[in-house]
Amino acid sequence: MARLELDDLHAEVAEGGEKILDGVDLEVQSGEIHALMGPNGSGKSTTAKVIAGHPAYEVTEGAVRIHLDEDEFDGVEIPDEMRTWDLLDLEPNERAALGVFLGFQYPAEIEGVTMVNFLRTALNAKLDEREELFEDDEAASDDEEEDAGYETSPMEGDVEEGEVGVAEFQEIMSEKMEQLDMDAEFAQRYLNAGFSGGEKKQNEVLQAAILEPSVAVLDEIDSGLDIDRLQDVSTGINALRDEQGAGILQITHYQRILDYVEPDHVHIMLDGKIAKSGDADLARKLEDEGYDWVREETYETA
Ligand code: ADP
Ligand code: MG
Ligand code: MG
Repeated sequence: MARLELDDLHAEVAEGGEKILDGVDLEVQSGEIHALMGPNGSGKSTTAKVIAGHPAYEVTEGAVRIHLDEDEFDGVEIPDEMRTWDLLDLEPNERAALGVFLGFQYPAEIEGVTMVNFLRTALNAKLDEREELFEDDEAASDDEEEDAGYETSPMEGDVEEGEVGVAEFQEIMSEKMEQLDMDAEFAQRYLNAGFSGGEKKQNEVLQAAILEPSVAVLDEIDSGLDIDRLQDVSTGINALRDEQGAGILQITHYQRILDYVEPDHVHIMLDGKIAKSGDADLARKLEDEGYDWVREETYETA
């Protein structure tokens, strides 16, 4: 089990720009589904981007932490003093290695790289990074040379210790794609080449399924999906939680996806902070009544 914690998070646009996040408090435990809702411009995407370490934003106060259990990662025993990590001190790939999935910021198209190769590379990069994070410093400098880089498409015999080989990865990928009801042909397609909006979203869920995060942050994964694709994507998100025990922070403007991915907790963001939290009934109330009543309630009592 792991817990992602946003503690009094304040952020503004980098280099003295507009203040956007004004004290966000939120905790997502693995196994829980949280919906983060709110009107346009309330700061939802900024929250996701700050967790991801996007350079456009500067954190001025507060923290983002991940707390790990001692047996959080298979085969890696985590000592007490390495259970809590301040994500804001870490590079995006280190955040991913600690089990936080934030979607991929990959180039639109990379010529000649198939999905299956790309995803295997991503998984191995994460495993390498994790090993480095939990290694003591002396050991790390000793085998720095050996660890420098990994091959993007090694032949079966070249697979390094601790990495997932081609055949093993094919199996993992087939299983995940089946779970997501994805076409087998997808694995051999080139990265993002001619993917529809819906396919990109499905892709994001596949990537999460393969990286097996403790907590996944999904921003507007429901936007622009037709109903069939919405159901497929929802099946994938539910599987992340039910089969892998991931926590989900599902950011959405609309209630629609929450009919398929039932949240345990719903939070409403207004003007850069969480104005109200509740259960799935809160999302249903928003569908009927919109956000105005939350705004009135928040500023009456303030
Ligand atoms: P949401 O996802 O809830 O619609 P955002 O987090 O995208 O909201 O944006 C919150 C507010 O911050 C908006 O007013 C938006 O215009 C502003 N904002 C976000 N990012 C930037 C940026 N890089 N530069 C300037 N303003 C920004
Ligand atoms: Mg606090
Ligand atoms: Mg947004």
